[in-house]
Amino acid sequence: MSGILSLVRSDLAGFAGYSSAAKESDGFELSIKLDANESPWLPFGEVSSLCPVNRYAEPQPAALHARMSAAWGINPQQLLLTCGSDQGIDILLRLFCTAGLDEILVCPPTFSMYEVYARLQGAKVLSVPLLENGQLDMTAIFRTITNRTKLIFIPAPNAPMGHAMNKDDILALCAERNGKSLIVVDEAYAAFSNDPDGVVPVLGKIPNLVILRTLSKAYALAGERVGCVIGEPKIIEALSAIIPPYPLAQSAVRAALDTLSPTGLAQTISRLKILKSEKKYLAEKLYEAEGVVRIYPSETNFLFVETTGAKDFMERLRRFGIQIRNMEYQKTNAVRISIGKPEENDFLLMALGVKTDRVSQSLRSASVQRKTKETAIDVFVDLDNRAQSQISTGIPFFDHMLYQVAVHGNFFLSLHAQGDLHIDNHHTIEDCALALGEAMNKALGDKKGLARFGFIVPMDESLANVVLDLSGRPFAQIEMTVQASPCDGMGIDLAEHFFRSFAVSLGATLHIKAVGTNNHHVIEASFKALGRALQQALVCEGSTLPSTKGVL
Ligand SMILES: *Cc1c(COP(=O)(O)O)cnc(C)c1O
Repeated sequence: MSGILSLVRSDLAGFAGYSSAAKESDGFELSIKLDANESPWLPFGEVSSLCPVNRYAEPQPAALHARMSAAWGINPQQLLLTCGSDQGIDILLRLFCTAGLDEILVCPPTFSMYEVYARLQGAKVLSVPLLENGQLDMTAIFRTITNRTKLIFIPAPNAPMGHAMNKDDILALCAERNGKSLIVVDEAYAAFSNDPDGVVPVLGKIPNLVILRTLSKAYALAGERVGCVIGEPKIIEALSAIIPPYPLAQSAVRAALDTLSPTGLAQTISRLKILKSEKKYLAEKLYEAEGVVRIYPSETNFLFVETTGAKDFMERLRRFGIQIRNMEYQKTNAVRISIGKPEENDFLLMALGVKTDRVSQSLRSASVQRKTKETAIDVFVDLDNRAQSQISTGIPFFDHMLYQVAVHGNFFLSLHAQGDLHIDNHHTIEDCALALGEAMNKALGDKKGLARFGFIVPMDESLANVVLDLSGRPFAQIEMTVQASPCDGMGIDLAEHFFRSFAVSLGATLHIKAVGTNNHHVIEASFKALGRALQQALVCEGSTLPSTKGVL
């Protein structure tokens, strides 16, 4: 055996693992599955109808494997999906460490699961504490390491402290231990950091580099247990022989596909922005709280905080029903606080006696998934985000129109639709209108600070008047008049239908009057005017409702 594989436990060399029904199938999908002793029926319960939970999921679900590789810019042969990244730690230890002989090296304060799995496998744990500045103590590491040190675990950013790790140290360690140890970089929190790509870009150049990633933290899927090991194809192949045959549940595969879809990723990016600014806010404000001694720099979604007494500090929060984590096993009087939603963070500060002057801004974003026999639509809107919208409906002209609404409405829209366009465009346009209206309605929340408005847009010979009231009382009066023939993908009738459906699901009163001689111009002017009217209506002008009734 050559290179990196010579590090594999000698008693596992060439071990092929369990031969499951899935492994033995030739990959050709036959419609009647009688090979895996599964139940032919779905079980009781609602959730199960969303995915075939009576069947084993694929060992490495192809669609998810492809989507995750693409999302993180990884060659698919370098990626193994695991049941959480914890399983990645476990199988690395099992594959490389012979009980009673081999060792791992950790640098505390560090994630405690490395040691847990090492003990379960009977591997010895060498420990070289981080330097005072939080970085690797390279001299001490080289002094401590032996020729039985198979794995070196480095969480980057660090857990539980939260700071960034020096990449050059990690690369120097890889170079020094080439052919002797694997360097396992645990990037559970990379997505929150200023360097979200982490060490992925150098993969491929460094044979003994292994990366762990997870959907548990930034991607909001802790409960579904989806992670991965990233590394040399040879390592991935050897690990896939020993991983349990079906590491991922069907529901986990379904949820992960959604999270990594274009709209799911857009929502994640938008939430990461919020978490970052909340962390900054919390880190500043917490210094005003009694009992806070020191807050450590963090490139994660948590703050490591030294207090005057961890137990007391936690008890003060407990009385308000707030749970944080005691970290005294890592450092005396330390606690760890995960960043929550803005209103949760404000409540935390209030519980600690810190005055907060900001108007607790609820997040004006929402997502909607709409699936029917005819269409499948994912929508995410963020009314306070100016990033470039991403729209694909399969109807280029309609994409262009929706883009006009988002640009002129001054909000972010991710809308991806797959519809029965081979029949006609009707279902797709109608269902996009309904899903978009519903998402905007959700994003508007309690509608505090909203105004009512209208706009007029000319386009050459055409003129569109749009008046909009986010009244909660759906009503649409749409009058579009044109003399020319329909343009690609969308005629006046479909445009009118779009505006009506949108008004209903948004819960808006919408009046549109548009006239012209060019179909394209009449429609485009109407969509632009709608965007402009929305922009005015969506501006948060204070914290009161613009209605004498006090409720919209
Ligand atoms: C949360 C965490 C993990 C575990 O992630 P799962 O995918 O949920 O198993 C791994 N490493 C670190 C540093 C973590 O904080």
